[in-house]
Amino acid sequence: MSAQTQTWTPSSWRTKPVAQDVEYPDQNALGKVLNKISSLPPMVTPSEIERLRHQLSAVQRGEAFLLHAGDCAESFDACTHENISSKIGLILSFSLILIWGARLPVVRVGRIAGQYAKPRSSNWEKVDGREVLSFRGDNVNGLDPNDRTPDPERLLSAYFHSTTTLNYIRGLLTSGFASLHHPRDWSLGHVRSVALRAEFEKIVDGLSDALDFARTIGVESERPYEQGGGRGSLGEVDFYTRWVFAVLGLMLAYEEALTREFAVPSGNPTTPGAPRFAQPARRSASKKHHYNTGAHFIWIGDRTRQLDHGHVEYFRGIRNPIGVKVGPTMGEGELVGLLDVVNPDKEAGRVTLITRYGAKKIDSHLEGHIRAVQKSGHPVVWVCDPMHGNTHTASSGLKTRDFAAIIEEITACLRIHTSVGSRMGGVSLEFTGELNDEGYSVTECVGGSMGLSEEELSLRYASFCDPRLNFEQSLDVAFMLSEHYKK
Ligand code: PEP
Ligand code: MN
Repeated sequence: MSAQTQTWTPSSWRTKPVAQDVEYPDQNALGKVLNKISSLPPMVTPSEIERLRHQLSAVQRGEAFLLHAGDCAESFDACTHENISSKIGLILSFSLILIWGARLPVVRVGRIAGQYAKPRSSNWEKVDGREVLSFRGDNVNGLDPNDRTPDPERLLSAYFHSTTTLNYIRGLLTSGFASLHHPRDWSLGHVRSVALRAEFEKIVDGLSDALDFARTIGVESERPYEQGGGRGSLGEVDFYTRWVFAVLGLMLAYEEALTREFAVPSGNPTTPGAPRFAQPARRSASKKHHYNTGAHFIWIGDRTRQLDHGHVEYFRGIRNPIGVKVGPTMGEGELVGLLDVVNPDKEAGRVTLITRYGAKKIDSHLEGHIRAVQKSGHPVVWVCDPMHGNTHTASSGLKTRDFAAIIEEITACLRIHTSVGSRMGGVSLEFTGELNDEGYSVTECVGGSMGLSEEELSLRYASFCDPRLNFEQSLDVAFMLSEHYKK
């Protein structure tokens, strides 16, 4: 039976082979945890998910820019007030630079509030001379080599760490943290580079002037949120509504437990605040869909995108907008075949292709992929991930990425899209605003305006997963993109 004709259910993926599957020794304990998760409330609502579909259609039409960013993998220990606010502050600063230069709204898709799973190239790894199961992320096992047996209780813990993170972010955003009236609160203090600080200050001053002007001529009729203004006040609407939470959909049993059937929410999805909450399907007679309620946007990794496997089967049935990682091993026919399965009705805003070839390989793959998709008539958002194809091991043994290669891949991506009449709609970055106790940024990627060398990597290397751009290096990318789109 072809994928399209087989009946889909939240558990139909179980009939297929599953890449990156985790073997739990205690199936009974796993069942109990999954039952519990399936009775807990949704983390995000169908209304928010529907709104995102519209926002992504706007990105596709060139009316907005997509920023997908955050940690490679979050850890339970890093779920702290400081880490969450510095990450949100960095995403806001990055967006402000882009909006200011490109004059385009930014749809912010945070790799946050549930990004705990980690795909691995091998089930086993050698630690201090002994073979142990690989670390698969905090939702599966522990980083400590003595804690590698998959423990289902970690899934429950992932649910609660995700909801705690979401609760704090939603609180931050509704109490004025995102207000355009004080971007200096978004941790500009992190930026030590004088030139970068000056550039950012220039934007903030320009923004203050613009807000003053708007207030004077009466455009801003409402007071800022923190002064009792409504959600419609200037500086709030865009920043408040364009927040999205995204995770790599890797652990299918967990995703299944978070999948719920709802009637499609009614109302105008482009208006903040409307539509209202969807009603659970059993109480409504209108069209029903299954939503993954663990994140607004979930994506399929480069290692789990096999057409006849479980991940594609699960993803094809959910209503959420989805991402698909596209690397150099993806064939052109295979890419179109995948789009036919996950988006048979060619709906706008449904699929985002996140390309990640590496600076050396993008020239031989991207154009063919774009042309094949153009010919198929599939509407997609194209996003450049300049991180995952540019990872290498430094002589010290630390995993790193070269800032120059990251810029090279973004530049090539912009050029190739333009040359074939397509558009790069956004970027997917692994970055962090995290600081150590002395207030210094992490040192995981080499280069950037701070000129980080390989020898300096070990100074403050904090990632237990892929190397991330630090605050300054991220703003460097933001300024480069902002300059490009200004033209
Ligand atoms: C990721 O985005 O962290 C990831 C694992 O990417 P990919 O599947 O492209 O390797
Ligand atoms: Mn990664």
